[in-house]
Amino acid sequence: MSNSAPKRLAILGATGSIGTQTLDIVRRHPELFSVAVLSAGSRVEDLIKYAEMFRPRLAVIARPELEGRLREALAPLGIATASGPQALCEAASADDVDMVVTATVGYSGLEPTVCAIKAGKEIALANKETLVVAGEYIRSLLDSCPQAKIYPVDSEHSAVAQCLVGENPDNVRRLIITASGGPFRTWPVEKIATATAADALLHPNWNMGAKITVDSATMLNKAFELIEAHYLFDIPADRITAVVHPQSIVHSMVEFNDGAIKAQLGVPDMRLPIAYALGRCSRLQGCSEPLTLERLSELTFEKPDELKFPCLGFARLSLERRGTTACTVNGANEVAVAAFLKGRIPFGKIYPAIAHAVEHATFVGRPGFDDYVASNAESRRLAEEFISKA
Ligand code: NDP
Ligand code: MG
Repeated sequence: MSNSAPKRLAILGATGSIGTQTLDIVRRHPELFSVAVLSAGSRVEDLIKYAEMFRPRLAVIARPELEGRLREALAPLGIATASGPQALCEAASADDVDMVVTATVGYSGLEPTVCAIKAGKEIALANKETLVVAGEYIRSLLDSCPQAKIYPVDSEHSAVAQCLVGENPDNVRRLIITASGGPFRTWPVEKIATATAADALLHPNWNMGAKITVDSATMLNKAFELIEAHYLFDIPADRITAVVHPQSIVHSMVEFNDGAIKAQLGVPDMRLPIAYALGRCSRLQGCSEPLTLERLSELTFEKPDELKFPCLGFARLSLERRGTTACTVNGANEVAVAAFLKGRIPFGKIYPAIAHAVEHATFVGRPGFDDYVASNAESRRLAEEFISKA
């Protein structure tokens, strides 16, 4: 990267898994990055701690009732505070922000990302739900705001982006998105149905936030990543496949027309793809441990088992039906995962709760922003209705 002034970041979701790893990269590269905005959902004491360390201009907490505590702690340091979704949008489009890191979880990432695109910002996109919920809308918004640019943070999509460097897009035959298979890959179906939150949260390779860890266990995360890949790289859905690779060393691959396959390998450490996005697809020094090939056991690849993990099927359904389908899947999943984590439903009821919402939801074929808002609210209501009867 150049000798210019440090890039000013707005880190939305700074207290989470991606957020704190982003802060770790900022800490290692103060010559490249500074923090203009930090935000959190409800963990106000963590937000205060990071604001004290990184001294942003503004700290935003999603829950308005917590802003008083934030102000009390940060006003003496000259750090402004704000709360609520509107404040997040203003922060994502502020003049003193060069790049927005969208590391909030779930549907909450959509609106600030839309604001960031409209303001022509660079975006390091971790919040895949943005593209799942509203992929077509986001693509057309990007077309009308050419200054805005999305750099993927998700490790698989970062791997694909790295494989595509220097290649003619016309030569791409297919994208191969790898999946760890999650903690239940080798479990029998009957046992998976009764798995507890503690079981689902024990991911074999990655240490992530609770929601995406459960999504990895249902493999809905992989379905979401196929949708995300379609909208990020503009490749038809039938040329994007998933393969289970339990070691999480090959982060994804691209196959070309001549039969060559390029892959990106590395230890499972999100700091590498985060840094690659922050550096606008350039390489920063020392972001993760090097991969010692000699110490690796064999790398294995297998077909995903859609009978065991029916949530995988939501990728095909969403990309065939399009419109608000994936928005419905996402909203219902958020409610079902929250209910599962609270012990209200067993693991085996997550898929039926989503399927119930998809079956009964209003379908809008060419949605605008307000249709996504309505579809999200409806699917949450439908999933809740299913769960309360379960
Ligand atoms: P975490 O749950 O660890 O962190 C989520 C962050 O979002 C926290 O800062 C949280 O604040 C904040 N937040 C929660 N709800 C809201 C809300 N309603 N409004 C504003 N902020 C909110 O999640 P992860 O870091 O694991 O994941 C973040 C995103 O990145 C997800 O979309 C995920 O799919 C994606 N991703 C994550 C990977 C990972 O390795 N973790 C890998 C690839 C993608 P608080 O702490 O106060 O609750
Ligand atoms: Mg991923």
